[in-house]
Amino acid sequence: DVRVRFCPSPTGTPHVGLIRTALFNWAYARHTGGKLVFRIEDTDAARDSEESYEQLIDALTWLRIDWDEGVNVGGPHAPYRQSQRGDIYLEIIEKLKASGHLYESFSTAEEIDARNEANGRAKQLGYDNFDRGLTDADRERYRSEGRLPALRLRVPDSELSFDDLVRGPITFPAGSFVDFVVVRPNGAPLYTFVNPVDDALMGITHVLRGEDLLSSTPRQIALYDALVDIGVTTFIPRFGHMPYVMGEGNKKLSKRDPESNLFHHRDRGFIPEGLVNYLALLGWSLTHDRDVFSIDELVAAFDIVDVNPNPARFDLKKAESINGDHIRLLAVDDFAARVVPYLVDAGILSLPVPDAQLATLREAAPLVQERMALLGEAPAMLGFLFQQAHAIDYQPDALASLPENTGVILAAAVGALELIEETNFTHDRIKDDLAAALIGGLGLKPRIAYGPLRVALSGRKISPPLFESMQILGKPETVARLVRLAE
Ligand code: GLU
Repeated sequence: DVRVRFCPSPTGTPHVGLIRTALFNWAYARHTGGKLVFRIEDTDAARDSEESYEQLIDALTWLRIDWDEGVNVGGPHAPYRQSQRGDIYLEIIEKLKASGHLYESFSTAEEIDARNEANGRAKQLGYDNFDRGLTDADRERYRSEGRLPALRLRVPDSELSFDDLVRGPITFPAGSFVDFVVVRPNGAPLYTFVNPVDDALMGITHVLRGEDLLSSTPRQIALYDALVDIGVTTFIPRFGHMPYVMGEGNKKLSKRDPESNLFHHRDRGFIPEGLVNYLALLGWSLTHDRDVFSIDELVAAFDIVDVNPNPARFDLKKAESINGDHIRLLAVDDFAARVVPYLVDAGILSLPVPDAQLATLREAAPLVQERMALLGEAPAMLGFLFQQAHAIDYQPDALASLPENTGVILAAAVGALELIEETNFTHDRIKDDLAAALIGGLGLKPRIAYGPLRVALSGRKISPPLFESMQILGKPETVARLVRLAE
């Protein structure tokens, strides 16, 4: 059975590329009926933070990426935080030492450089496997000098190949990597050790991760061979390396770039459905002609071998347009509910939202749902509904757009609206009567006639459909706004 894992190090805010990796692992687990393990690789106390860990949980939960085993939910291979697995690593280190896969290495960087120079060996090749040949007496001598050994894995001198699920066959020629350090002199095991050890102990069948880790794969396979030899596991997983996510100027989307932060997109009003859809397109597609799909469709179709190895470009415009499509797919009440936090954040509503305001919001929702790419546009589009006439803030560009005869237009509009009974104050009636007064009566073009009305209502040049907005505001409020701008 398929067992995949998501095993981030909790540093910084969740990067969209990292969450894409989580999504693909999740989709593959769900597609195959397998299991997703969520492990935290927090072995770097200087860089890891609890806040970052909480953010990872928050990000996955928000996107509805769930996991079967791991932090928060537990499971048969607990604990799932590497900072709590020290004893487990110690035991395996001892076994690998006893079986000769790990050996003590005392060489310092300076000693290695000096030897390479003396032997005419290129400096970049680094360590020369020298300490493989140390005798017990050598080791005694080093210890008596107070030197502590690192532990290195004895790697085969032959070439190493594997068949990458995304990239196809990959071969590392003999000598392209040397016996590498797996445990520091201070006893701390390194990523290249704990990561495959945990994958082996947790029965991971497919290691699906970012392209940046491709270079560590041959070392990890070498370690896996040793783990198979000592009976920690019986198999080596398949590996698949997912493409980089590129930002502006075809450079890797860097951590410093605000667009790399998943929460930046949530704050702007991506909905999980839209962002999951877009993240899935970073290296994968459902069909060549369909960009918009549901999470269920993703799960039904997803296979890791269909992932494209070429760098994926993060295209914010496209992401927003896809998000808009998903916003339009929401049921109106659902949409209204999701808009509330953005209106609260903008200070337009406050919690708990009174029923009357909720009713207004539901009434207005269909008018704006069609036109929004991000929920964060809600305050600008809907805010005017919840303000009082005297609080409307006229935008400078809106004021500048007013025609000379604005006063006449507003007066005629007020005159027409005053004649409508409050109980008949519906958008059809408003539309007919305003058209009769302004277009028929004053002979104006609609663009000229209605511009000042929009500004009066919302303070902006562009607002949701005018007549519907008037209906929602009601007669007294609508008239009050027209009168205020006329003054
Ligand atoms: N903790 C590693 C990272 O965040 C995990 C890499 C892997 O998936 O093997 O880069």
